[in-house]
Amino acid sequence: MVSMKGIVRQILIFLVISCSLAGLAPAQVIAVRAGKLVDPDSGTVLSDQIILIRDTKIEKVGKGIDIPADATVVDLSRMTVLPGLIDCHTHLADGAHDGEPMGQFKKTAAQVALESVPNARAMLESGFTTVRDVGAYRALGDVALRDAIARGDIIGPRMFVAGAYVTISGGAGAATGLAPDIGLPWDLRYGEANSPWEVRKVVRQLAHDGVDHIKVLSSGAVLTHGSNPHSQEFTPEELQAAVDEASHFGLRVAAHAHSPEGIKNAIRAGVASVEHASMIDAEGIALARERGTYLDMDIYDEECIQEGGRKGNVPKDFLEHDAQLGQIQRDNFRKAVAAGVKMAFGTDAGVCAYGTSGKQFAFMVKYGMTSMQAIQAATSSAADLLGHSNEFGSIKPGKYADMIAVSGDPIADIRLLENVKFVMKDGKIYKQ
Ligand SMILES: [Zn+2]
Repeated sequence: MVSMKGIVRQILIFLVISCSLAGLAPAQVIAVRAGKLVDPDSGTVLSDQIILIRDTKIEKVGKGIDIPADATVVDLSRMTVLPGLIDCHTHLADGAHDGEPMGQFKKTAAQVALESVPNARAMLESGFTTVRDVGAYRALGDVALRDAIARGDIIGPRMFVAGAYVTISGGAGAATGLAPDIGLPWDLRYGEANSPWEVRKVVRQLAHDGVDHIKVLSSGAVLTHGSNPHSQEFTPEELQAAVDEASHFGLRVAAHAHSPEGIKNAIRAGVASVEHASMIDAEGIALARERGTYLDMDIYDEECIQEGGRKGNVPKDFLEHDAQLGQIQRDNFRKAVAAGVKMAFGTDAGVCAYGTSGKQFAFMVKYGMTSMQAIQAATSSAADLLGHSNEFGSIKPGKYADMIAVSGDPIADIRLLENVKFVMKDGKIYKQ
């Protein structure tokens, strides 16, 4: 005979165990009804899908799934649901949108950090649930921003950060334009390195300071004073040192490069991605394909540089660096896509206003991608480049509940991604 007291005790034990397993709070269950669902893994669009979300993760996806009685139903049956978008080239921690890097010398690090708060929010609300941030003028501001978002103190995308630019003195990632006798604070000269051993030292310091990847500058830049995008900066030995040292900490390397030699040096050194890749030549395209190196080509921001130039907001030397480079980059993007090189979506967010990254999709389609390829570049391929395909990049069981929705068919009209109507990150709705 089981006594009433015994049953009550067993129920109590069961409750204690289940509560402690669930971290005391009952799990939040959401069922999203998706009229259409874009699956970048298979390159297909599914219809009438139910996405079951438990807390931060996706539990089930499919047609005719039973919706638990305690689930909150989110009805997107008239919309197209996509995985949360990923921008692999952002600079969210540089403060207010500004075409002139000299502006950094007029602000404290605290000002820059607080000005960056709305950048993160704009990025998330425009549909980008994850970003790979590839360098901040004031070192480690991006680490602080990433951690503040992860704690839930401020609203923004999941961030992966570089901490600082690893650059030659006076190079593309250096704070330039000041007289030689003006000393810079530590965080404006953190990433300068001028030999393979100095590169290793900076990489070690960055790894210790908690970065997610390393950003090196392999050629000159468009948006740096005294820089020449046609030049080569780090030597092959220095680039190899960066990739090797980063690998000791499990970190991947992204290389900024415009010039053909700067691009090829970086690919040969084994970087995970080449940023900009503006003047990539046939040999560079073949090398990238052979080595599986991602290209992250920011082919929209030319519009913003030229527009800023017309308004007098972009320094004259930057416009000179940029002359013809925009069109060359777009033509080379088309060649790289045709050659089957791995492509990731990266906009250099901060050059154009934060929250406008979605405008690049239409240009990627204009220059040779299908709509699905452009979406894959910003979802499954981007997650692969980041090394986190098992956590995000598509709407699959076990992954974070990161998703967006647009009204209409983005395969037929890619520009719908410029106007995202619904945003969920980690199972939490930020826009509806
Ligand atoms: Zn950049």
